[in-house]
Amino acid sequence: MSQIVTRYAPSPTGEQHVGGARTALFNWLLARNTGGKFYLRIEDTDQARSTQSSVESLLRDLKWIGYDWDNADDLMYQSKRVPIYDKLISELMERGLAYEAWETKAELDNMRGQAAIAKRPFLYKRQNYTHEQLAKFKDEGRKPVVRFAMAEKPYYFDDEVLGPKCGVDADQAQDFVIRKTDGMPTYHFAVVIDDAEMGITHILRGAEHLLNTCQHIALQEALGYDRPKYAHLPVIEKMGGGKMSKRDQDKLIRERAREWRDAHGEIVVDGVDVEKFLSDKKSQLETAEQDKVMAVIGMERRELPEINIADFRAAGYLPETLNNFLALLGWSTGDDTERMSMDELVSRFSLDRIGKSSAKFDRAKLTKFSTEAFEHAEPQRVFGAMTDWLSVNPDSPLHRCDDDQLRTLLAMNTGFHVLAEVEQKSTLFFEAPTEYDEKAVAKFIRKGEPSGLEHLRTSREVLAAVETWDTATIEAAIRKQCEGSGAGLGKVAQPLRIAVAGGPVSPPIFDTLAFLGKDKTLTRIDATLAALSETA
Ligand code: GLU
Repeated sequence: MSQIVTRYAPSPTGEQHVGGARTALFNWLLARNTGGKFYLRIEDTDQARSTQSSVESLLRDLKWIGYDWDNADDLMYQSKRVPIYDKLISELMERGLAYEAWETKAELDNMRGQAAIAKRPFLYKRQNYTHEQLAKFKDEGRKPVVRFAMAEKPYYFDDEVLGPKCGVDADQAQDFVIRKTDGMPTYHFAVVIDDAEMGITHILRGAEHLLNTCQHIALQEALGYDRPKYAHLPVIEKMGGGKMSKRDQDKLIRERAREWRDAHGEIVVDGVDVEKFLSDKKSQLETAEQDKVMAVIGMERRELPEINIADFRAAGYLPETLNNFLALLGWSTGDDTERMSMDELVSRFSLDRIGKSSAKFDRAKLTKFSTEAFEHAEPQRVFGAMTDWLSVNPDSPLHRCDDDQLRTLLAMNTGFHVLAEVEQKSTLFFEAPTEYDEKAVAKFIRKGEPSGLEHLRTSREVLAAVETWDTATIEAAIRKQCEGSGAGLGKVAQPLRIAVAGGPVSPPIFDTLAFLGKDKTLTRIDATLAALSETA
């Protein structure tokens, strides 16, 4: 068979959603598996919604996740190809296969309404305008669209995933818009031209495009193009059902913002109608607007369910873990293998193992994948990922660490599931406790004979005498203290933890003290002794 050529064709109207990334991945895997080509095309014909910042974020996220495209020097932007589309549209018009249509939106709504009353589907068919009508439309300053005259016949195709005979009967054919009033082609037109010109052999895309394919086939037939193979990928759903959408993030922000408003008063954010956002469940915020509102209410992006690739990057997943997980959203190996490197995914991927039923986005499974991946990854890989994570988390206190300290933090915080957790577990190194966990104090400071507080006093002296401040020397000194007093390590270590971390949880205690440094350790113990002795 000749070379397989696939493409990913995002519309730059927002950040890269995880569902789009799955589409890109499958196209990329098929191309790489077969030694074919994978192209990227920016579908920016919707001038009102397409933005350059969205293009930039799409490219950034695709690079991060690792789907290299083979037209890097010649990225296709549909907005730059309008003369090409226009020429083809003129040809279709000359052949009588396309024509200008002049209805306003209100008139179309009216036609739709009448179809609904008559209980028949609204299918636009060519209207016969009189000369007078045409003159009037022009006088009014109306701008026509161009519609394609879709031949009345059945449109069926074999889908590589959904099987034979997908499509619609002849009575579903309708004349659809191929050029909008602003002179831009519609998605349906541009997609067909570009796929043909790029030599795309296989189109893998979301199932929501299934019926669009009929219109695309009609155009291919009119223009004499080959029909590519189509594979419509199963929908990705949340565990409880429903689409994964940014709305879930907005919902959480809305809840928290309402609580904040009830406690603190009106939320004022420049350029955002917060009251509308709070009162209208359907209203949504752009990513930048979400950030502004969250800044006011003291909420962090990482508290939101991740939806966009940028969210997963900011949380601190490895791209290879995410790819492994995304690959299994609709595809499987056929045996029990689930954990695969990028190379294994490339070598094992095949179209015929893509399933029909919807795929569940199981966050618990992703967490498990991620934790295991970090456990098994080479330290150098994890360090590289940490550097990348810091580049997208400019406010992280971990920026205060040098490379060696970062390596140490990564080594001592085993078992984390994302890099953000390393930061969270390291907070104690950057902030002294301002309060102490009451339960822990009752259990580990007050109880015992001698009490935890007394052990802590002794530890203060022991540690003050340690000259070489490293994990091994600190450990030897504290163990000697335990032997001397006949106490188990826990009895001595827990009061130390409370002193340096404010509670009973910290990374391994000797590593923690070594990292913290002698001065800070002793200062925190002194503060604890002072605070907890007073109330004794
Ligand atoms: N721009 C379309 C989208 O983002 C592409 C659909 C297709 O792959 O044909 O949904």
